[in-house]
Amino acid sequence: MSYDESLDFLYEMEKKHPELIKIEKIGTTYEGRDIVLAKISKNVETADSKPAMLFTGSIHAREWVGHELALKFISYMADNQDIDPSLEKSLTESTMYMVPCLNPDGYEYSRQHFSFWRKNRRKNHDGTIGVDLNRNFSIGFTKQSNTSSNVYGGEEPFSEAETSAIKAFVDSHENITIAFDYHSQGNVFFPAHKFMHEAEVDGTDMNALCANMNDEFAKVTGRKYGIHRGKPPAGLISGSGREYYYSKGIIAIVAEVGTKNIPDYMKSMSGSINENIPALKHAFSEVINYSAVAPKRVDEFTIESRDATSVTLIWQYEVRDDIFFEVYRSTKDKDACNERTKVGVVGGMSFTDTDLSSSTNYHYTIRAVNKTTGYKSPFAPVVKVRTWLEDDEFFKLIFANKSGTGYVGEFTQEQNRSHFGLNSLFVGINKSRGICDAVMSFDMDSIPKNAIIKSARFYIYPMNRVGAKIERFGEWNLSLLEQESFTEVTDFHEVENAKSKGVMGRAIQSSKLTQGIWNHWSFSKHECELLQEKIDKGEAVFRLDGPKTLPDGEDSQMMQFDIGYGQYGGGIHYRPILDIKYTLENEKIKLASDTRTTISVEKVEEGLKSGFDKEGSRVYGYLDFDLSQLPDPQTTMITQCALRIRNNNTFKTKSDVRYYVELVEVDEVGTYEDIKNREKIEYIGYEVAESDMGNKECQYFKFDTLSKQVLDAMHQEGKKLKLVIKPTSSLGMKNRIVEWNDDAELVIKYIPKRRTAVAKVENLKIAKENKMIKLSWDKVEDEALTGYYVVRNSFHTPNHFMDGVKIYGGKDTYTYDNFASFDKEKYYAVFAYDDVPNFSEPAVIKYNPLEKY
Ligand SMILES: [Zn+2]
Repeated sequence: MSYDESLDFLYEMEKKHPELIKIEKIGTTYEGRDIVLAKISKNVETADSKPAMLFTGSIHAREWVGHELALKFISYMADNQDIDPSLEKSLTESTMYMVPCLNPDGYEYSRQHFSFWRKNRRKNHDGTIGVDLNRNFSIGFTKQSNTSSNVYGGEEPFSEAETSAIKAFVDSHENITIAFDYHSQGNVFFPAHKFMHEAEVDGTDMNALCANMNDEFAKVTGRKYGIHRGKPPAGLISGSGREYYYSKGIIAIVAEVGTKNIPDYMKSMSGSINENIPALKHAFSEVINYSAVAPKRVDEFTIESRDATSVTLIWQYEVRDDIFFEVYRSTKDKDACNERTKVGVVGGMSFTDTDLSSSTNYHYTIRAVNKTTGYKSPFAPVVKVRTWLEDDEFFKLIFANKSGTGYVGEFTQEQNRSHFGLNSLFVGINKSRGICDAVMSFDMDSIPKNAIIKSARFYIYPMNRVGAKIERFGEWNLSLLEQESFTEVTDFHEVENAKSKGVMGRAIQSSKLTQGIWNHWSFSKHECELLQEKIDKGEAVFRLDGPKTLPDGEDSQMMQFDIGYGQYGGGIHYRPILDIKYTLENEKIKLASDTRTTISVEKVEEGLKSGFDKEGSRVYGYLDFDLSQLPDPQTTMITQCALRIRNNNTFKTKSDVRYYVELVEVDEVGTYEDIKNREKIEYIGYEVAESDMGNKECQYFKFDTLSKQVLDAMHQEGKKLKLVIKPTSSLGMKNRIVEWNDDAELVIKYIPKRRTAVAKVENLKIAKENKMIKLSWDKVEDEALTGYYVVRNSFHTPNHFMDGVKIYGGKDTYTYDNFASFDKEKYYAVFAYDDVPNFSEPAVIKYNPLEKY
């Protein structure tokens, strides 16, 4: 629609739905056009007294989709206000303020004269035309001398009619809780930030809102948008509307829709609009949850404990009968918080999540819900936790190495070498670079040669998809290369033609290229086997490649991934990661029994027998083992155990006698009473039936998980393992005794693995140096020390190595936090770790902005 057509449409809608829609003029542009705002709410006269959402579109002239979407959404709301109960509820309790086009002069200029126009149409003092309205707000405003620049922000903040009109409206409407500013392109959300590269308490609210909208897109088009907050050291934009709204306490998000500013309307823009209608409806339903009537946010949401298969979370809240809590969990970065991911509804202040996978990253958040009103609180900041290892497991997070990680372009032969360790990974194709592949190399030497890989995940951080300009075109594949098939990783043809061991995981479709959201592939068993072959080679080299051709008339389908390093890298936290869980080949030891005794009513005698005596009383067999023959318990983990035993005699007649082996606690076996009154600790695995004894040479009593744990504990405590063989029968057997051979033995499988962490780091200190926060600590004197892991958390003390942003991992006893702000309180934790890795207790220090360092 032209701007005039849209005005006609809006006034027509107001006339048709006077109870629902009210059009207000909020300003006049340089060229004299009205800037209008539509108020939409049930009983619209009361609109300003309800919590509200602000929608602004087309502040950039050429980004037409915002304008068009607003008009379509207004129609949708008018048509469905009495049909869709959730929409009806939103319209009853909340208000939608929509400025379909915040730059009418520029929009018309783009429509009629020059489609690529971005700014407004004011005449600058030196005769050039236009101010970038989204650089003309006050937060972070920078005055630029080049007035002809596309991002020229004007003489001073709010010098423009359009920005001062929206400022006046927002300043006088404190009921606004959520603001969306619609732009194109990139299929990405940019939530607001406070010009500090640190987590904000409402960061999770913005991420969750966008992620929930992603679930709505998925239903319509299968598409997923990126969710990207400003990340260092990329330049942050100055003077934008989003940051101004955010400074007023509003949840503020920019939506960049589509892959082109002015796309094929039928093919692409209509899809973008269709997917955004249910998404906007969802955002509208959240407005009330950020208003004064909503419950307050949960405090101190954190991890109490975790093991290999469960996580216990705790939090604080005032005790109230009308409040319950919803807990959300996902293994994915920036996932939705809705019915799909809700794992707990609880009344108390703790929740245990069970049946999880070991050594896996889980993300949790929580919100309080008022039972009476149904209003929900904002989210607590996301807590990340990695479940612990099973007894026989180790893990390694291997980061892509600097010299073997870069991209190679078909037309950039000369420069390709210089990309390594420096430039982010450009993958796909465009006119100037040709086909581009990424190579990522991982040193495998931290993994022992006899490791058996149980699972592996590959993480990569997509940082920009502006160069992927075609909707639904191409896919991005990860493959493991055969080292023998290339010699030079910086050579395009060698990499492009290198032989692949196979494509790992599923391809990423162009519709799922989500910048700002970690992407990961989980390897199948077969893929783990392929990776395992690389342990011997000492290195695994992966290639990521995208589309190799472009449709006619198109110039780019290129995706940019982070390598952590270089001018645009986000820091070491953002390097590609290979996350490997492995076990080791088992070692085996056989222990002969120390004592073998038979205990019947009549006597205690040497040798091992069990069954029923002439009177039908039980005869017990007793045997024990000296566990001190096993290797040092501090560095040994028992993985399997079985009692192997042979019977010397069998019976001709059948019976139902079955034999159990019990792990017992007895001081001595001097009398029948001692055994009768024994304290049973565990049954060992399964019983053996008499009928099996004829056809198997040996009987194996396998230790189940619980009895293996008891064995493990006895090993650590240096105790003897004491076993009783107990016969059972339902038939009242008499005179039926099995003689067991003297060569009974305990078959134990184990792996060398440290059980406990090295000592906690001491003397952790903060200093300011080179305009950065510097942390230093004393060296932990222990040969088992592999390194230190440093984490920053903006909200609470990190009590787990995953609970925050990784600042450092390595052997140095100091590190700088390059990206931390001096003005914000935060906590640091340093963990010392060994090669399992077991992590020490954290050494924690708080950074206080008011203190001198
Ligand atoms: Zn824009």
